Amino acid sequence: MGRLVMKFGGTSVANIERIQNVARHVKREVDAGHEVAVVVSAMSGKTNELVAWCTEASPLHDAREYDAVVASGEQVTSGLLAIALQSLGIQARSWQGWQIPILTSDAHASARIVGIDGSEIIKRFSERKEVAVIAGFQGIHAETGRITTLGRGGSDTSAVAIAAALKADRCDIYTDVDGVYTTDPRVVPKAKRLDKVSFEEMLELASLGAKVLQVRSVELGMVHNMPIFVRSSFDKPEDIDPHGTPPGTLISSEENSMENHVVTGIAFSKDEAQISVRRIEDKPGVAASIFGPLADANINVDMIVQNVSEDGKTTDLTFTVPAADFARAKQTITSAQDKIGYARFDSETDVAKVSVIGSGMRSHAGVAAQAFAALAARNINIRAITTSEIKFSVLIDAAYTELAVRTLHTLYGLDQV
Ligand code: ADP
Ligand code: ASP
Ligand code: MG
Repeated sequence: MGRLVMKFGGTSVANIERIQNVARHVKREVDAGHEVAVVVSAMSGKTNELVAWCTEASPLHDAREYDAVVASGEQVTSGLLAIALQSLGIQARSWQGWQIPILTSDAHASARIVGIDGSEIIKRFSERKEVAVIAGFQGIHAETGRITTLGRGGSDTSAVAIAAALKADRCDIYTDVDGVYTTDPRVVPKAKRLDKVSFEEMLELASLGAKVLQVRSVELGMVHNMPIFVRSSFDKPEDIDPHGTPPGTLISSEENSMENHVVTGIAFSKDEAQISVRRIEDKPGVAASIFGPLADANINVDMIVQNVSEDGKTTDLTFTVPAADFARAKQTITSAQDKIGYARFDSETDVAKVSVIGSGMRSHAGVAAQAFAALAARNINIRAITTSEIKFSVLIDAAYTELAVRTLHTLYGLDQV
């Protein structure tokens, strides 16, 4: 007997029929003798609708009220799944974040979990054989008593945090794909499922754009050494062999299974904006005068390229910020033009960042150079480059994203994994 957390994303609970399918998956694990806590997302599209309603009510709305609104999607699915489980004869009870409680920071709309009291749920496992059906994405800020949410995709993080708090054996993430692929399988049909991925690589994949898991959930998995298994909710529960190994991807502290591959996967993100500050004075302190105010405004700067000055007097500085922060970044820099001392502000929002990830890069030279040549052969211009130990990223025109991802996927032999 073991203890499991099973998380089901939006498409997996999109309607009553799918919720009943989820209930049969949960029953399968209960019948196999496991203690089960389930974490659910809102029905697919629901959170987008709720977010849009807040914006329609007022573009600049109170984040506390935004959280009160958007947390409601998960409340509905947790109750519905508890009903569906009860109708299958399974003892089940729904839990909202505040009822457990799942305590978070007060950073509304992107709160961080600071503590979870799993004692009542564990007590009910043993005393009542009860399944806990927990609303993902939401928590409560203890001091103010207000409902909080964990940022988009946050149910993954709820699930891993709950798994750690309940000391579960594993956290199963059921979604609309049957695992983590070498790249988004909806963009590259040749993408291959990976059997195993290390936390370290998954952290890079997720933070560089592979939205199959929220970044924070992988961080928590790593910190608590909680194995995460990504699998499909679309498999029929009746067809799953209780003693077999289902298709899926295990994310754990183990190295991945592709020992002969330098590259594990490719991620991409179109949520970037490029800014160039032209003809700034080439003297000490200039970078600080630009990046200091951006940091104060809580804007994350990612790729940075500074040209070597031709005349020894002025230079250009190019960098990227999240597209969502572009307007604020522009305002921050243009309003400080006199202080910084530059001639021109240029920007491009139609850009994408394509990243290649693999822990094998540590021991192999020239991996990035191959990519630059392959992209050049396709006439794809590189606007900026960053590298680190196990990944590198290039910034390109957004229109070439799919072509670049497919080119690199083939280049690194991932079509034939
Ligand atoms: P859920 O609603 O279950 O949380 P998401 O839509 O958040 O599901 O995440 C699953 C989606 O992530 C897939 O449908 C797929 O398009 C996308 N995705 C992006 N990169 C990858 C990848 N490397 N492997 C698998 N899926 C990926
Ligand atoms: N429902 C939330 C969202 O769409 C959380 C989640 O699905 O993980 O972002
Ligand atoms: Mg998700």
